[in-house]
Amino acid sequence: MTLINENYLHLEESYLFSEINQKIEEYRKENPKANIISMGIGDVTRPLPKAVIEAFHNAVDEMAHKETFKGYGPEQGYPFLREAIIENDYKPRGVKLTLQEVFISDGAKCDTANIQEIFSKDNKVAITDPVYPVYVESNVMAGRGGPQDKKGQYNGIIYLPCTAENNFQPPLPEEKADLIYLCYPNNPTGTSLTKDQLKEWVDYARDNNSIILFDGAYEAYIQEKNIPHSIYEIEGALEVAIEFRSFSKTAGFTGTRCAYTIVPEELEAEDSQGRKHPLNRLWNRRQTTKFNGVSYPVQVAAAATYTKEGQKEIKKSIKYYMENARIIRENLKDTGLEYYGGVNAPYIWIKTPNMSSWQFFDKLLEEAQVVGTPGTGFGPSGEGYFRLTAFNTRKNTKEAMERIKKIEF
Ligand code: PLP
Repeated sequence: MTLINENYLHLEESYLFSEINQKIEEYRKENPKANIISMGIGDVTRPLPKAVIEAFHNAVDEMAHKETFKGYGPEQGYPFLREAIIENDYKPRGVKLTLQEVFISDGAKCDTANIQEIFSKDNKVAITDPVYPVYVESNVMAGRGGPQDKKGQYNGIIYLPCTAENNFQPPLPEEKADLIYLCYPNNPTGTSLTKDQLKEWVDYARDNNSIILFDGAYEAYIQEKNIPHSIYEIEGALEVAIEFRSFSKTAGFTGTRCAYTIVPEELEAEDSQGRKHPLNRLWNRRQTTKFNGVSYPVQVAAAATYTKEGQKEIKKSIKYYMENARIIRENLKDTGLEYYGGVNAPYIWIKTPNMSSWQFFDKLLEEAQVVGTPGTGFGPSGEGYFRLTAFNTRKNTKEAMERIKKIEF
């Protein structure tokens, strides 16, 4: 009989969203007239900007004529998009990148999951907790996690708890970590790291020959000046960090799919004989072997996000979501609940008062007909917290908060 990859057996079944849906269904059955508002969605709700749609349409038309038709493109992405990324996302922040360092893909989800395969299975991986589950689970699939303990932690992974007690700043690991996943602004806590706080991690990586895998999927939501938009704004980071970015939350590409990953040319890691190897070459090899690039119209659409019109519309959408976040925060002030985030990210992280994440979920559903996400779904340190998102209409956001304010906690 063919054998399976047994690492998959260590994975906990993800019941989170099915359990949420099941609870909503049950509530609906008993209360068929209830107007339930979902504040649990981690997906954008506003359509693609007009400038993007126009460019997208034109590129599709190009595919209809033999003079302009495009077949396979470069696996790393078209130079026009990679250049636009360098010129717009990095140059203005004082970060110099070459075309070879930019890899276009169809999502930060796959890149953050796939990147671990260019590293040895023997590396120790440190991950902030709570966290976007992809980092943990992709490492468990690869055999770096092992079984789970009673606390719900995988034995092989170093957890860096981020809670109100440490102001959601991940503590430097006691045990040496080879690979460190950082996501800032953070999903799910909505918190961010200042330049000085992120510098501690760059210094740690430099001192310990570690590599940081930095997920900047929510970069576009940063409002405050002292928050870095790229890890490469920190001196020395080009030698120790890979950065992931996505057009998903920046420009509404969750259903269109386009993202990119920066693997600096000076970034190196060793083989078992102690010989150094550039990671850029390994990732390039991985991508050219396993990936055939993002479709041409999608890359043209992504490039249009950098036009004047595109930028104007993107900023308008981000402002809209962040105004929702402000409304959520403002209303939470009147509830007596402790809450975090929502300033540089579209997520608000509530501390559940003397109840578990799921008890808080039930209370909000029953007493306000509002749905959010129990923090425990993002890792053991998410227990006792609850995520609300700003991805909604203004009307729903206001209505949900009016209802939440009436609850006695
Ligand atoms: N990284 C983080 C932290 C996310 O929260 C998400 C989506 O929710 C992603 C990456 C996925 O990005 P993409 O749509 O580019 O795959």
